[in-house]
Amino acid sequence: MHTDLVAALDIGGTKIAGALVDRDGTILVRAQRPTPAQEDGDTVMRAVEAVLGDLTASPLWGRAYALGIGSAGPVDASAGTVSPVNVPGWRDFPLVERVRATTGNLPVELIGDGVAITAAEHWQGAARGHDNALCMVVSTGVGGGLVLNGRLHPGPTGNAGHIGHISVDLDGDPCPCGARGCVERIASGPNIARRALDSGWRPGPDGDTSAAAVAAAARAGDPVAVASFERAARALAAGIAATATLVEIDIAVIGGGVGKAGEVLLTPLRRALGDYATLSFVRRLTVAPAQMGTDAGLVGAAAAALASGPGVTAAGV
Ligand SMILES: [Zn+2]
Repeated sequence: MHTDLVAALDIGGTKIAGALVDRDGTILVRAQRPTPAQEDGDTVMRAVEAVLGDLTASPLWGRAYALGIGSAGPVDASAGTVSPVNVPGWRDFPLVERVRATTGNLPVELIGDGVAITAAEHWQGAARGHDNALCMVVSTGVGGGLVLNGRLHPGPTGNAGHIGHISVDLDGDPCPCGARGCVERIASGPNIARRALDSGWRPGPDGDTSAAAVAAAARAGDPVAVASFERAARALAAGIAATATLVEIDIAVIGGGVGKAGEVLLTPLRRALGDYATLSFVRRLTVAPAQMGTDAGLVGAAAAALASGPGVTAAGV
């Protein structure tokens, strides 16, 4: 039997997706279940097992030689455990051990979801060909990952590059993580929307108060909506500039739901980078929108599994 495929799991607070993926990153088989995020840990695990059951039932399953998991964090790759903020039933949950019990001891590679998306963008997306990159997911939270010296840099526990919890406002608002003035506390979708509402922005007749609605208002010229995005852009720029100054990245890729706001976010972000990324070696830093779509987490988890294989390396990962 050929063993030329990998299995991939993308575990988030909303859905659990699985796939069998070839060495080119093509998804051959898919499975998905909603995440019963508010249920107990074993109930959540049963949803994971249902996704794995669909994959193992495929005639292609026998060709898989490793399994990559990208999970909402924090994760602890060294211990094989996960504690996703939005899945309270999982705290230090032994996900790797439980998955191995289902999949017949296939080698398992666990990384955080921000690192997974970084792997995907580096393999096939906006960071392709860049040896030093920061990829970010700006959404309900703000996550990220790093490529350094041409390789994914997950760090010992799989969380490196978690830019959302760099403080960019020393005396700023308390963040749920325990610190103050974190990038996420200023730039996440819910915080963009909250700040706009606090400053007097009002939704349209549909009552939509999401960051996407604030983005639409900003595009239409609403000054309060514009200001909320500009504040988010400055926080992101300060975090990106700090990262670039520390490890000399040459591109920052912005994805996630808030990233889809496009120029409403990216134009003030590029402008603010001029204020914070000032030293000669970071001035050429570019900002680009993410290119990978909703499959980024799966493709990134597959890339991690491919990279773990004996003598096999996913191109560029
Ligand atoms: Zn924080």
